[in-house]
Amino acid sequence: MTTATAPALPDVLLPGRLFIDGEWQDAESTETFEVINPALAEPCTEVAEADSADVDRAVRAARAAFESGPWPDMTPRNRGRLLWALAKRLEERKKEVALVETLNNGKPLFESGIDVNMTIETFEYYAGWTTKIEGATIPVSVPGQFAYTRHEPVGVVGAIVPWNFPLNLASWKVAPALAAGCTVVLKPASETPLTALLLADVAREVGVPDGVLNVVPGGGSTAGEALVKHPGVDKIAFTGSTAVGVRIAKTAADTVKRVSLELGGKSPNIVFADADLPAAVKGAIGGIFYGKGEVCAAGSRLFVESSAHDQVVDGVAAGTAKLTVGDPLEKSTRIGAIVSEKQMETVLGYIERGKEEGATVVAGGGRADIEPGYFVEPTVFDGVTNDMTIAQEEIFGPVLATITFDDVDEAIEQANASPYGLAAAVWTSDVKKAHYVAHRLKAGTVWINTYNLYDAANPFGGYKQSGYGRDLGKYALEQYTETKSVWVNLR
Ligand code: NAP
Ligand code: MG
Repeated sequence: MTTATAPALPDVLLPGRLFIDGEWQDAESTETFEVINPALAEPCTEVAEADSADVDRAVRAARAAFESGPWPDMTPRNRGRLLWALAKRLEERKKEVALVETLNNGKPLFESGIDVNMTIETFEYYAGWTTKIEGATIPVSVPGQFAYTRHEPVGVVGAIVPWNFPLNLASWKVAPALAAGCTVVLKPASETPLTALLLADVAREVGVPDGVLNVVPGGGSTAGEALVKHPGVDKIAFTGSTAVGVRIAKTAADTVKRVSLELGGKSPNIVFADADLPAAVKGAIGGIFYGKGEVCAAGSRLFVESSAHDQVVDGVAAGTAKLTVGDPLEKSTRIGAIVSEKQMETVLGYIERGKEEGATVVAGGGRADIEPGYFVEPTVFDGVTNDMTIAQEEIFGPVLATITFDDVDEAIEQANASPYGLAAAVWTSDVKKAHYVAHRLKAGTVWINTYNLYDAANPFGGYKQSGYGRDLGKYALEQYTETKSVWVNLR
């Protein structure tokens, strides 16, 4: 089977350039890098490659826009209207943006549509917050004094995001940052810079002032590191791997930057025998295979109560075998192309490791027979123990590890026996058990009898080595504001 040829990209991406101070600019070095369409394993365009000199230019533009010009003078109401306009324009360009996301990331078109919808929702949600970021009056006990707090924007935000939800995860940083009155320098992942550039284009179209949103595609160890080191950046908002998050936190410490980290996961999906098992089977399949498993919250460890083992594992294996892998532009496709050749090799390596360590493949098990792109069969392992590599390390691909358990506390203990703590799910029809388990799981999100639900109003983030800080909801605004205490002597 072969995939078709790709449709053309919008002109603004041919080639893609840096967006700094309201203008499309080349890199000072004039270097560019190729962007690959993973479904065809061929370049779809090239993009200017920022290095530290360009990052410096972007940070200066963001600093100038933060300190003076129209942005700090804009009323909260007008800032809200601008974010709303951005959401509306994105909605008008939704088809184009979703297509670009699919051509760059390899995910099926319907998933890119969901990503763009979530991005629109995120901008709409934070548009409503601009007029609601309130301080407090504080009942201090010092006689004759009046004290109050102001929640001021933290300043210039460096946002660094990964390749799995390139536009959507950018919006999780950019929307609350702009709502709070910050300015932003956004560095997308090297694999997927295109929709971040379209976001800049939309911001330009609706009149976001120059310098308020800058986008600098470039390497992590060059452009990314320059952003983290830059003394003109007040805060780094990062989503990506735990290894890079650790490095960023260390580097940012030199300038005492504020840091929030959304990192990896190895999320447990726990199915009790008293659950609605067909629903749990569906949830287990969607929980791991949505987004090709390149989802930080993917339910990559499936814990099944032993008395339900056969029904659940047979159901998951049969359902997985029916998932259509292939051209992400085809309507029937459920599993698109893995984002890059390197990531495909990583995933295939883990599949081999699972076989070597003695787990049993009950669905998939290797590269899909589709040329020329990077396609992997959705793979289900049974007979996994929690100490195996495929149960401990984040694979970030379509690979599920099934582990059997016998009682509630054993399930909780094993689920928590991971360095990660991003998300988890529990399937049961016993309401007491559901909450008991939900409260004891060390995870930033717990789904009960569902999986992979998100909402702009609901906070998302990790426990343990899945990071700190929360994206989304009112909680995210804390990441982008400083609290100032003001004392007034009334005597
Ligand atoms: P990654 O390698 O950590 O990269 C993430 C971003 O950091 C990219 O923009 C990358 O740039 C940049 N970067 C790399 N090294 C850097 C450095 N030294 N200084 C500053 N920036 C640097 O992650 P990825 O490979 O893109 O994505 C996969 C990982 O992200 C998985 O582990 C997954 O769990 C995690 N993730 C977590 C969440 C969440 O919400 N918790 C969401 C999605 C993904 P380059 O692309 O140029 O290397
Ligand atoms: Mg990377």
